[in-house]
Formats: sequence, C-alpha cells, structure tokens
Amino acid sequence: MSTANHIKNVNRAVILGGGISGLGAALLAQKHGYDVFLSDKGVMKDAFAKALQDNNIPYEAGNHDKTKILDATVVIKSPGIPDNAPLILEIVAAGIEVISEIEFAARFSESKIIAITGSNGKTTVTSLMGHIVEQAGLDATVGGNIGASFAGQEAAAPAAYRVLEISSFQLDGITSFKPHIAILLNITPDHLDRYDYNFENYVASKMRITMNQDASDYFIYNLDDPVIVKALEKFPTKAQLVPFSMKETLEHGAYLQDNNIHIQTDLNPFIMPIQELSIKGQHNTANAMAASTASKLLGIRKETIRQSMASFQGVEHRLEQVLKINKVQYINDSKATNVNATFFALDSMEHPTVWIVGGVDKGNDYSELFDLVNRKVKAIVCLGVDNAKLVEAFGNCVDNMVETGSMEDAVRVAYKLADAGDNVLLSPACASFDLFENYEDRGRQFKQAVRNL
Ligand code: ADP
Repeated sequence: MSTANHIKNVNRAVILGGGISGLGAALLAQKHGYDVFLSDKGVMKDAFAKALQDNNIPYEAGNHDKTKILDATVVIKSPGIPDNAPLILEIVAAGIEVISEIEFAARFSESKIIAITGSNGKTTVTSLMGHIVEQAGLDATVGGNIGASFAGQEAAAPAAYRVLEISSFQLDGITSFKPHIAILLNITPDHLDRYDYNFENYVASKMRITMNQDASDYFIYNLDDPVIVKALEKFPTKAQLVPFSMKETLEHGAYLQDNNIHIQTDLNPFIMPIQELSIKGQHNTANAMAASTASKLLGIRKETIRQSMASFQGVEHRLEQVLKINKVQYINDSKATNVNATFFALDSMEHPTVWIVGGVDKGNDYSELFDLVNRKVKAIVCLGVDNAKLVEAFGNCVDNMVETGSMEDAVRVAYKLADAGDNVLLSPACASFDLFENYEDRGRQFKQAVRNL
C-alpha cells in the first residue's frame, strides 16, 4: 500500500452497512473520486457484494476493521446503526464526520428534492407522488427509504426532481440536505428505543427535514397534528408554510369541505371530491391532500393531479384488499407496526371486523384503540408469541378472543368467526419479528393463507 493512502487529506469515504443505501453511497463516492471502503459487520446480500466487486470497490463483511475505518475523512452510516453504537462513538471521538447516505447524496445533487417524512404514511404519499409526477411526465425519480437509494440514483443519472421517502434515522445524519418541498405527515410515538425513550428527541429528529429550507422552499405539514404545531414553535422554519387540515377551512393551504379536497395555494384553486380518490379512509384523504398540494406547488396541471389520484393503485400491505370469500372481505394491513397506523385502519372499517393483531410490542399503549374496538370489532384473533398484553388490554372489549401462533391458524380462526358482510383485517399494531422475517413476509403469508381457504 502506498503511503499516500495514509494521508488523511485524500478524500476517503468509509461506508458502514452494505445494504441498498450503502451500495448507493459507495458508487456515488467512487464516481466523485473518493477512495472508498465499505464495511458491514453482518452478512451481505450476494447481489450487493457482487455489485461492489464489479465496480472494484473494496469491502469487508462479517467484521469492522477499525484501522481502515478510522482512516476515513467521512463516514457514511447506514440508518440501521444507532448513533450510540460503540464504533460510531469511537469514529466521532476521532474527529471524523459521520453522515447519512441522503446527506452524502445531497452534497452532489442538483435535483429539486421533494422529501416526505412522518411516523405513518410516508410510503403511501411517496408512491402517490411518484405516480403523479410520472403521469405529469416530469423528469423525476422515486426512492430514498423505499426502493432505490438517493445516492444510488445520483450515481446513476441526473434528474430534475427526486421524490424521496425519508426516515427519522436518515434525518439524524444530515447537515445540508435541503428539500425544495418537505412534507411532514404526522408525528406519533415510534422507534423510541432509538431516541432514549424520549418523544421530544424523536420530534426534533423529524423537524430536521425543514432545518435547511429557505424562503424559496415549501414546508407542507399537518395542521391537525398538535405535536407538529407545537414543534414549529420550537423549531421555526424559513420555508413558506403550507398547512393541510381535515378539520379547518383554510385561506392558504389544503382543506376538506363538503367531502371535497380544496387546495388554495395560488389564484388557481384545486377541488376534488374524495369519493374519486382511489385510496380510502380518512388517513388516506390526508395523504392525498399532502401529495396533491406538493404536486400543485410543482405546477402540475389540475386535471393530471385529479386523474392520477383516481388511478393510483395503492401500496402492498397498506389496507390492501386481498379477496372476498363468502362475502367476507380480507384486508392486509401488515405494515401497521404501531398503534397509530392500526387506529386509522380500524377507523376506516365500514363493516363488523374480525381483527388479527399482535407481534412484537414496541411499548404500545392500546388505550387509544378501546373506543374503536368497541364500535368496530366483533372478534379478536391474537397472533404473536406473547399475547398477554393484548389479552389484558382487550379482553373486556369483545366476546370472542382467540390466541393463535401461526398465520395459517390465525386466518383459519378468523374465517370461522366472520359472517357474510364482515371484514377480516390484519392490522397488527406490532412489529413482526417474533414469527416472521419482516412485515412483508407477514403480509404475504396472510395473503397466501387467505388464498388457501
Ligand atoms: P410509512 O412508510 O410511514 O411506514 P405507510 O404508507 O407504509 O407509512 O403506511 C404504514 C401504515 O400506516 C399502514 O398501516 C397504513 O395504512 C397506515 N397509514 C398510512 N397513512 C397514514 C396516516 N396519514 N396516518 C396514520 N396512519 C397511516
């Protein structure tokens, strides 16, 4: 090895984590002339390892070689690695900058960024935005926390617009990331294990989405969410504020009136009846408001926005209608991994519901659901390794409560409990790791079990 490699001022990017964002960051760093090294302590997917080999990017898997890592001028950390991991603390103590992959990508990007965050609804809104910009024929890509990584997209080709789903972990590692349009959907407790069990820390993380915006940018936010309204006082933004509300009529922003979405951001207001929206439930009306407001600000034609919101197919595992069997509708909402998501799922049920719930509880407070469960749920099927908390919380709300330990069992029990005209809803309010690989696996097993009935 030449001594030059040991001179710190050579731009040397070390990427921690060999997942999709790590690979993207590695390719982008290489494109911009960095000396690149990728380190993953776990097992890397073959496809990612092969991509690194094909591009002659040195990497290691199953180990973190500290000498190589502490030689970096910048470390790009996977969102999965907590800030307080011993290795990260050591890197920071050595005076090395640690950033997230979206920050790294932003430093090279000339695209206008539409960034979407929130505790729930990110993927739905990002996908809906993606559909609208595609229908509008904009030169845009969709990615971030879903699908392709921002860095990978920057490495591949320029684009006028980037529609990006952004998680709080990604925001924790930004310094200059500056969206032209930022959307903040809602903030409810989630991932608190990564925020010292302090909700305020999580709120502060979400508000970072707007911290670099200026007066030429827009901040679209949910005016009905008191947490966001309060956070805006603590973290004022320079961006133009564009609120959306399901409850209040607004002079500026998006609101609901007589079952129509109204967007009032310029002299050319947008109106669309909510029955025409392809995605149902009041949370999805809010999601549609947020996406259409951003689209309007981008100057997309009203007719294109309207048609796109009517034709959007929805996203798998989010209130996904699976099949109707004996006049019972089966609905897959496996992505509901927290109480708030399940709240909106139950709220949108228009028929008596057999509810499949459970998994790994992230410190859930179920009391918010009591009223909905009393009104909408006829029977509960618990699906988890440990159902004690569910039994205690809901035992008095319904006459029928059955514990199961596999998806096949859960669906079979739900089938027996449901009568014509009912819904069977999988909306677990919990993570999936006790019985499934991830929420996608859980949702797919549900759909398979339903098809096997
Ligand atoms: P995210 O990407 O933020 O996890 P998704 O769009 O994947 O959000 O939806 C996650 C879960 O939250 C699904 O169960 C979905 O039905 C529910 N959901 C979607 N939008 C909202 C919203 N605006 N508020 C509350 N829950 C929502």
